[in-house]
Amino acid sequence: MTNCIFCKIIAGEIPATIVARGAGMLAFEDVAPKADVHVLVVPERHIESFRDIETLTPDESKEMLGFVATTARGLGLEDYRVIVNTGPGGGQTVFHLHWHILAGNLPAFG
Ligand code: AMP
Ligand code: ZN
Repeated sequence: MTNCIFCKIIAGEIPATIVARGAGMLAFEDVAPKADVHVLVVPERHIESFRDIETLTPDESKEMLGFVATTARGLGLEDYRVIVNTGPGGGQTVFHLHWHILAGNLPAFG
């Protein structure tokens, strides 16, 4: 999608620190980290938000979840938090589905 910042990162049009790539997925460091470790995981195919998760095939959904876990493991993490902000009221500011992986220095939640 032309005006999507994450599509531009995926296309290599704007720089990012890539952490992992594979299975139609990309992981890169968040430019404004909210914890000691803050990585974003995105599908290479533009999907606006978690609401649209059912447009993925069951295999794609499984790959995506596996890639989040594999990326966290590759970062050497055992304990971490995964967040998907959904819609503006849910804190979403970039409208390309992404999974936040956060670790270290996390505020209490729930
Ligand atoms: P959300 O608020 O859940 O939509 O998360 C969007 C995240 O993208 C925020 O944590 C931003 O810091 C991050 N972000 C925005 N632009 C970039 C960029 N160019 N490279 C890396 N992360 C970004
Ligand atoms: Zn996009």
